[in-house]
Amino acid sequence: MALDKYKSKRDFKKTNEPAGARALAGRPSRSSKKHSTNQLIFVVQKHNASHLHYDFRLEIDGVLKSWAVPKGVSRRISDKRLAIMTEDHPLEYAFFEGKIPEGEYGAGTVKIWDKGTYKSEKSMKSALRSGQIEIVLHGKKLKDRYALIRTKMGADSKNWLMIKMKQ
Ligand code: MN
Repeated sequence: MALDKYKSKRDFKKTNEPAGARALAGRPSRSSKKHSTNQLIFVVQKHNASHLHYDFRLEIDGVLKSWAVPKGVSRRISDKRLAIMTEDHPLEYAFFEGKIPEGEYGAGTVKIWDKGTYKSEKSMKSALRSGQIEIVLHGKKLKDRYALIRTKMGADSKNWLMIKMKQ
């Protein structure tokens, strides 16, 4: 299951993060086919954990694909930012803000830094597989075209670069 890793890292008796139950309980899946032209969501969460970073998440195929961006998403054209792929998160996580208690995975505060929808001209599933994603974000702060490029060949590389493109 896509969310196994997410769940195994967390104790939902202790953290207020969403357990993602709805995604498993037969919630109609929002397949990327149906929604490729509208209303796929993205979120950037400022995560003040042991190291401050920003989590960039994109709705792909019913989950939030997630990257930790240590320096945050740049708004300057051609800026490249390291983005480390982390475990898939449930869609409900896009609404999560709060404090993850001391001692728990990701302990610290989470705040939504920007949120909105995005568009891709290509299938996000195959873009993800090939390690070359190009999207246009429609957020409050981010309203731009970005590329996410996997730095090494091979699907197991976790390191990507997030680059702000020219319009
Ligand atoms: Mn994080």
